[in-house]
Amino acid sequence: MTDTLYIVVPCYNEEEVLPETARRLGDKLEELVRAGKISEKSRVLFVNDGSRDRTWETISALHASDRRFCGLDLSRNRGHQNALLAGLMTAKDRADMTISMDADLQDDIGAVDAMVDKYYAGCDVVYGVRSSRKKDTFFKRATARGFYRVMNFLGAETVFDHADYRLLSRRALEGLAQFREVNLFLRGIVPLVGFSSGVVEYERGERFAGESKYPLKKMISFAMEGITSLSTKPIRYIALLGFLIFLVSIAMLIWSIFRWAHGDTVLGWASVICSVWAIGGLILLSLGVIGEYIGKIYLETKARPRFLIRELLEDKDGETL
Ligand code: UDP
Ligand code: MG
Repeated sequence: MTDTLYIVVPCYNEEEVLPETARRLGDKLEELVRAGKISEKSRVLFVNDGSRDRTWETISALHASDRRFCGLDLSRNRGHQNALLAGLMTAKDRADMTISMDADLQDDIGAVDAMVDKYYAGCDVVYGVRSSRKKDTFFKRATARGFYRVMNFLGAETVFDHADYRLLSRRALEGLAQFREVNLFLRGIVPLVGFSSGVVEYERGERFAGESKYPLKKMISFAMEGITSLSTKPIRYIALLGFLIFLVSIAMLIWSIFRWAHGDTVLGWASVICSVWAIGGLILLSLGVIGEYIGKIYLETKARPRFLIRELLEDKDGETL
């Protein structure tokens, strides 16, 4: 028996590329069905993220002409990550595995085969990772690298050079469904879900048509979202800074007593300088401590699952001895 694959594609104002994307994905499905790798029930699910152009009409027409194309229409624009999640959660009960990819054909469809192979080899998560950034400008390469470094430093661990092109098994999706946070950063959450994972490399191409929906402003807010929704490390760094400043104030104190003992200071200088440093340090340190508790409250309110089970070995009837 072969498993069912759903390819989930979030679309925002993508009317120009959709017909071509659908054609190529349809061909890919057919090829995989012929090769006996996926079942005939496999589908492509387009999620319309509140587009203002004729994207939904295009999706409806595709669905009318070919039943392998399905559509999901969101009530309004909710952003890439939420659109993707909506598609994945819809596919969860219908598919054994899902592959998410962008509508603009930047993700190489050829990598789908390798992902499906890895799924059959036992991977629950397969990350599509860009093989090279040769085509990128120096600026883009440097900012991208900086992006991953800063993210990791601030506690938002992500897979290097991996965007949202990935395969998820039903088990991984069910795990993902238990992460109930409103501020969603899939790239950071998927590694937290766990299970066996693999990597498939692919060459990322140019956008087929239309323009990017991710201008620099959105990129920066995306990075901020990733850091603040995954980690409370920034708070910890504030506390650390406060502690360091407090240490400096002690050094200053010793130094100014030394100067005072030699009698070469203006009256009052030593005490003023020392208290400025000490109080500044103590304020930051206390802020960090308070922040630490707020961070805990923040993480608690997310009500994330504390564990996910890979397998349970027990008697056939489920009885324990
Ligand atoms: N997208 C979406 N909602 C949005 C913005 C983008 O569903 O509010 C989709 C878009 O249609 C595309 C994917 O997210 O399929 C990635 O967007 P884009 O290609 O513009 O980003 P880039 O590749 O430039 O980073
Ligand atoms: Mg793109």
